[in-house]
Amino acid sequence: MPVRAADAATDKIGRFNRLSASQANTWEDCPRLWWYQNKLRLKFPQTPPLFLGRAVEETVCRVFMESPGMIFYQAPADVMEIGADFLLPLLDDEVPDTEEKLLLWCEKRVDVHWPIIRDKMHAEWQKHARKGGNWHDYSMQQYRDMCVTATKMHIGEVIKCMQEVGARELTMWREGHKLEIPAPDTRSKEFDRHPLARYGECTLVEAWEIARPWFVDPDAPDFSLNVVHPEHWFQGEYDLVYRHCNSLRIMDLKASRGGGDRSGNYVEQLRIYAMLWSITHDGQIPDALEVWYLGVEVRKSIPVPTAAEIDIMEGKLKDLWSEIKETEITAEDCPPIPRPLRGYSEGGVKIEDPKENRCDTCDWAGLCPNGTGDDDLPAGGEYEKPGDIKVYDLTPFNDLQPRVDIFCEIFSIKEIDFGPPNIMIQQNDGFAHIKIIHPGDEDNPSYPDGLKKGDTVRLEGVIPSTNWKGELQLKVDPHARIVKSSSPGESDIGLFDFRARWNVAGRVCYTTHKTGIGKNGKPWARKGVVLIDDTGRISVEGWDNAWPSIFNTLQQGDEIAVLNVSLDAWAIDVKANLEKGSSLQILSRQN
Ligand code: SF4
Repeated sequence: MPVRAADAATDKIGRFNRLSASQANTWEDCPRLWWYQNKLRLKFPQTPPLFLGRAVEETVCRVFMESPGMIFYQAPADVMEIGADFLLPLLDDEVPDTEEKLLLWCEKRVDVHWPIIRDKMHAEWQKHARKGGNWHDYSMQQYRDMCVTATKMHIGEVIKCMQEVGARELTMWREGHKLEIPAPDTRSKEFDRHPLARYGECTLVEAWEIARPWFVDPDAPDFSLNVVHPEHWFQGEYDLVYRHCNSLRIMDLKASRGGGDRSGNYVEQLRIYAMLWSITHDGQIPDALEVWYLGVEVRKSIPVPTAAEIDIMEGKLKDLWSEIKETEITAEDCPPIPRPLRGYSEGGVKIEDPKENRCDTCDWAGLCPNGTGDDDLPAGGEYEKPGDIKVYDLTPFNDLQPRVDIFCEIFSIKEIDFGPPNIMIQQNDGFAHIKIIHPGDEDNPSYPDGLKKGDTVRLEGVIPSTNWKGELQLKVDPHARIVKSSSPGESDIGLFDFRARWNVAGRVCYTTHKTGIGKNGKPWARKGVVLIDDTGRISVEGWDNAWPSIFNTLQQGDEIAVLNVSLDAWAIDVKANLEKGSSLQILSRQN
């Protein structure tokens, strides 16, 4: 089974605390790099190839989901939305019956899907606050061609299936037998005979159906198709799992040419996937592992680990999980000791290791002691603004309190068709709106059923702010909830007793920039800066025109104070908002 969900009854770890192959690789690359990216959750620049790679993968998966036995090459991109059960098989003379015609069909289907998915990813990249690079520096034709290359490689599997499929496998498929977790083909009906089944030798279209690998359904929710280790400390997600002709092979798609250090990580990633498969399949070891470098049309074979190697790998990864995820870890536990860069040429071919240092191109060199930074980070204290007699208390990030608990009465509640109700609460003579952004789920709802006017409730961990009309608003996110209660709790405060303004100081990691179009049709822009101090990280955000021009000169490693900010939060992320009266002060410059 390419998917293994966590067992909610026994999972005490949770999906955000599991180890993944990419985290394990980052740790091996450099423990301090892991600290910055995983513990402080700093985001490296989101460049176009990251989004184009996802666009290639989605395009390929959408073509694999379709069938040349049911879909004309000119069909619209959303033709599968109706479901394969409701599509009629094409006539024999309408389906591709040679390898060349099948490749042409794939190419045409790529050309139907690619422009839509490419543009969707372009829009996603454009609105990303941490986008980097220039979209137009990349050849869209090359990425489109990579999609065609992937389908060409897949056709190799289809041909192999057509030539080698055994009588039993073919008959079973024709009789409608399905694997426990079938490849995503949008079919849900049971049938005695597959609608595309023929008689005699396996046809090309039948081979396309039988060889269809398991892949991540592009329409599935995030995380839903992960494979979770039975003890819940590890999770991964395969790209392609081929299961035809009694051969189990795991492939990974890479929209790249395969040169450079990262190709070393792919080797480890595939071997870890072999481990995961073996652990979740009673010790079955995949027959092959391959990286498909779509930029150079190379299928690189990765040595499959033995059972003994899998045991060692599992032990090491479990130890790593215990070391970095199970226990509270500090920056000192993550030394800035990078491993040497590994040399790979196109197609992931191992060559001599380069002389350069990993730190030379590291995104965090301006923060790290091995670059131009140090570990002597700001830690609260006081700040005297030049020309101002006032002394400002600077709060360490860990001590910021964006959340409050409040005991109050429901003043009004209005059910709406879709989504959580509009609630207004009252405490003494004060009123506030409740903004439920995260309604929770059946097992863990963020507000109780049947709330009515006059009920008394406790608002736990809600985030106070003011809306555009200046009214008090209490936000309910994944870490907040409303519970019915007849009396206040010890931590409860008055409706207006929360601290509205804070002063913070930290070291600049990077700036962010978001733009969009508001409901009124007007464009908006927000800028932000991500800061770290000795206790953690926060982001500070404000409207584009609220920042002084000095904001545009901020560099990684500079230290700044931002005074009189309000607080906001989403789950574990704390955000400071630049408000009227807030100010930005430069404390020191990196250089
Ligand atoms: S600069 Fe070097 S030591 Fe520091 S995080 Fe980056 S790779 Fe690691």
